[in-house]
Amino acid sequence: ENAQLKDIIAHAKEYGFVYPSSEIYDGLQAVYDYGAYGVELKNNLKRLWWETMTRLNDNIVGIDASIFMHPTTWKASGHVDSFNDPMIDNKDSKKRYRADVLIEEKAAQYEQSGEKARAQELLSAMARLLEAEDFAGVRDLIINESIVCPISGTANWTEVRQFNLMFSTQVGSVSEDASTIYLRPETAQGIFVNFLNVQKTARMKIPFGIAQIGKAFRNEIVARQFIFRMREFEQMEMQFFVRPGSELDWYKEWAATRMKWHKALGIPEEKLRRHDHEKLAHYANAAMDIEYEFPFGFKEVEGIHSRTDFDLKSHQEYSKKKQQYFDPEINQNYIPYVIETSIGADRLFLMTLCNAFVDEQVEGKQRTYLKFHPAIAPVKAAILPLVKKDGLPEKAKEIVEALKYDFNIIYEEAASIGKRYTRQDLIGTPFCIAVDHQTLEDNTVTIRHRDTTEQERVAIADLHARLTEACSF
Ligand code: ATP
Repeated sequence: ENAQLKDIIAHAKEYGFVYPSSEIYDGLQAVYDYGAYGVELKNNLKRLWWETMTRLNDNIVGIDASIFMHPTTWKASGHVDSFNDPMIDNKDSKKRYRADVLIEEKAAQYEQSGEKARAQELLSAMARLLEAEDFAGVRDLIINESIVCPISGTANWTEVRQFNLMFSTQVGSVSEDASTIYLRPETAQGIFVNFLNVQKTARMKIPFGIAQIGKAFRNEIVARQFIFRMREFEQMEMQFFVRPGSELDWYKEWAATRMKWHKALGIPEEKLRRHDHEKLAHYANAAMDIEYEFPFGFKEVEGIHSRTDFDLKSHQEYSKKKQQYFDPEINQNYIPYVIETSIGADRLFLMTLCNAFVDEQVEGKQRTYLKFHPAIAPVKAAILPLVKKDGLPEKAKEIVEALKYDFNIIYEEAASIGKRYTRQDLIGTPFCIAVDHQTLEDNTVTIRHRDTTEQERVAIADLHARLTEACSF
């Protein structure tokens, strides 16, 4: 793993953002827990997404569907038959790899050494073989490219096998008529099966959308790069139902809207990239990713897909229940087309953390801080009495009382003021509010700004308005 990512992982653990799951038992691969500041950041990101979707669009409403769904759901969606990764095992190290990732890494090496055409050729060859489900061909490609196992260093590979990514479990007691169900690998299907329920009960007219935030589970084999690829993660998806024929216009519109959202979060334009898919999934007639330049390269953060009527049509076939909408404007019944925007809350978290992480030399001294947009910062302000006496703690606590109902505030009186500033920098608190002897005289405080370390004198009476303005999105 690269050095910058290592620093970020270490920082996330040390300062209460992300820990390996069940760490006292040496952790569980690709599963993570969020700490005191991590959960605040994640909740802020989810709330921001939820509000921009449901509150700013009067034609989008939310739902909260279950993780467990009727097993036929996953037949209809195609996940039982085709939610597979091509896997290959190295016979010497007994390690399992995703065949396509091994090839992608080889292509990245070509790219790095300036052999762009060769990299492209390799990726196209792989895409052709995967499309044709020619797995023997994929293996030949790995052998011909002399790709070796990073652990054993040998090219002693097994054949390539398909590996389904869904986790399964049993409902009912095993002795009775237990049946196999899956943990949902995406939240989207909970929206599709509820399409008519929501349309009718929330009295929605096409075009309209349904938004949802919830856990999804995938048995990812290549689980690396911290919380980029997890086995248990959270998705934020919005399915937007439109009249057939209008889907590509809506696709364009949502692509632009979502890109704007990422920029509004404070992600610089040059760190974001749009990647249009050449090879489309069986259900899509257009698809793109919004990519962010992580320390390990440009990678997908969000997918925007034009899914046609594939899902609703398939659910209609399997359930034998009509999934149609009567459009009063054109006097027609039809199965709506769907544009979806799909983003992982954890991946968004990683993007904002990477983007916020600053580790710089200032006048020969190392300064590390997290420059989160105040709207998503875990803690908005720290209230710090200069000394632990003379009535300053009492005055500071009055300020906490006045602000804590609207903002996540920290009160801290231990250690020197400089040390307390540093500690807030490390968790990304945008404002430190210092209470000193002058405060007792004129009811003003010092606000110290995280990014510039500049200080200014502000009336206590103005603090609420100042924070409200700074924390708006
Ligand atoms: P990838 O190619 O990275 O596996 P995908 O194309 O399979 O992703 P989708 O099925 O389109 O991803 O899922 C939509 C979003 O959900 C992704 O853009 C990503 O943000 C998030 N996501 C998907 N899989 C994971 C995972 N294993 N861990 C964390 N987030 C994930």
